[in-house]
Amino acid sequence: MIVILKKGITLQEKNKVVSFLQDKGFMVKEIVGTEDTVLGAVGTSSVDYRMVEIMPGVSSVVPISKPYKLASRELKKEDTIVSVKNVKIGGNRVCVMAGPCAVESYDQIMTIAESVRESGAVILRGGAFKPRTSPYSFQGLGEEGLKLLRKAGDAFDMPITTEVVSPSDVEMMTGYIDMFQIGARNMQNFELLKAVGRTKMPVLLKRGLSATIEEWLMAAEYLMASGTDQVVLCERGIRTYERATRNTLDCSAIPIVQKLSHLPVIGDPSHATGKRDMVQPMSLALVAGGASGIIVEVHNKPECAFSDGPQSLYPVQFEKLMRDIEALCPVVGKSLEKAPRIIPDSIHSDSAEHHEILDPTKIVVAFQGERGAFSELAVRRSFDEEAKVLPCHSFAETFDAVSSGKASYAVLPVENTLGGTIYDNLDLLAMHPELTVVGEQQVRVVHNLICVPGARLEDIKKVYSHPQALAQCKEFLASLPEIEQIPYYDTAGSVEFAKKQNDKSIAGIAGAPAAKFHKMEILAQGIETNPSNYTRFYIISREENASYIRSQAKSNKAALSFSVSDEPGALMKILSILGDNGMNMTKLESRPIPGKPWEYTFFVEVQLNEEIEFEKVCEEIKKAAVSFRVLGTYASVL
Ligand code: PEP
Ligand code: MN
Repeated sequence: MIVILKKGITLQEKNKVVSFLQDKGFMVKEIVGTEDTVLGAVGTSSVDYRMVEIMPGVSSVVPISKPYKLASRELKKEDTIVSVKNVKIGGNRVCVMAGPCAVESYDQIMTIAESVRESGAVILRGGAFKPRTSPYSFQGLGEEGLKLLRKAGDAFDMPITTEVVSPSDVEMMTGYIDMFQIGARNMQNFELLKAVGRTKMPVLLKRGLSATIEEWLMAAEYLMASGTDQVVLCERGIRTYERATRNTLDCSAIPIVQKLSHLPVIGDPSHATGKRDMVQPMSLALVAGGASGIIVEVHNKPECAFSDGPQSLYPVQFEKLMRDIEALCPVVGKSLEKAPRIIPDSIHSDSAEHHEILDPTKIVVAFQGERGAFSELAVRRSFDEEAKVLPCHSFAETFDAVSSGKASYAVLPVENTLGGTIYDNLDLLAMHPELTVVGEQQVRVVHNLICVPGARLEDIKKVYSHPQALAQCKEFLASLPEIEQIPYYDTAGSVEFAKKQNDKSIAGIAGAPAAKFHKMEILAQGIETNPSNYTRFYIISREENASYIRSQAKSNKAALSFSVSDEPGALMKILSILGDNGMNMTKLESRPIPGKPWEYTFFVEVQLNEEIEFEKVCEEIKKAAVSFRVLGTYASVL
């Protein structure tokens, strides 16, 4: 049962409820959500619900209708985020685990670990105990394999996961690994599930060869009832009559599981297909289907692999796959979980003495708009979901929040693919020399018609939104001429306004997060005329506070501003310095200089690479220009 607690419950009252339930034989788990705090009470016992309902501090009691309780979405509304050391799985992330089917030797695992890490995998896999169909096949290196996997994980700064096949190995394995893997053949080995669950460690639970989704979730329930709440589900293909592939990848299981359970679900395209050439398309299908990641087999010499060679990718294929996944992620509202670089960014090597703010939960990020705005979506793409957000009324206020130290970062829109450059933010950046661009983010703008729950399209008489959003939904709104369009200062704000009116005839137009945040209903989805509508954001910060973003990826772009003397060819001279040094320019703008009529500041963005001597180029520009400033160097997401 789910015991929903009142907001003002005292600690004493809560302890009383917990003790009462425990005395009745229930296992009790407290779940703190953004809205409610609940107690999940599970077990074989039963109690008259009314006895719990009348206890002080209890708001209501709801039975859990599903046979799995702790794993059920009914108990916990928010997505569970599983942490495997510094890697997080779940929410909007796509996490890629890669490595060989089996650990074969020191050289093999080190070589593969280095290459998958370089391509962007964040967790290293490799079997040490292999449950093979034939007793005469390679069974794995056992504990020796665990030692080698640990060495490779440590050498390349990756958490490791490996399969456990026997309850008697569990304790020994906790000394080596970061995440247990329960293989498909052991999904219903209940003694193994109990032993692994008791360690409270993260577990990757593969779906059984012929398990239904309910049986799979019941296996997760075994793990959770035994003590761990860190379970990641993995769809790896099920057995059907089809023999063209090794198994049949059940992509549709992903959205179903996400509805039924709060646990993250990933996919295994390698064991599902058994064929190397199908791994890339099926990986993309899994990500497109909403998977929180994939686990892929990669081998440096697949033709010599001790097991599963035909389905193992060559490292170059894996590299390409990672790039394809990264490109796909923003389309489906996800972002690829990236490993922090091992080698520090040379451009910022002088910032070592700056104080570090690496704990993501302590970070405050400012943005302009109301909660649920597209800018907040950009914040969530770049920061941990535990980072705090600071909504600001104006762009200027957002800059001030970072300048004064109220926030460590701000995420500000600089360009929209339909509307062009957002000049206000370039001008504000020019007015804040203490702030610098440290990152970039991109969000696809999908507009929705949002109203109070229960309203129908024919009920809507007035629609509020930002004038740009109304313009971007012109065709949809033209098909409903009886609806009056009313400009509002903010998209997400229009949803808040509609909610406050509590009137079925009023709707707002905004992104899906605004509907979710205000518990409103989406009446029509994707109503923008042009679906290629993207907004690009700058992440700005004081350089000394930027460690969290700086540690994610290497800078490959720079934003510069300069002014030139009033003489023929002055601008040309600066642009040729960029060209002569092999710098590709991706953006050029000119802005009037306040107080100097008809004089301009030029603003450019350029790409950086290992060959470009950025500091030398800056010196050259400084000499040729009247004024010059590096607005920031950052990792581009485009
Ligand atoms: C594996 O991941 O190496 C493996 C054996 O997978 P499964 O249990 O899904 O067959
Ligand atoms: Mn395998």
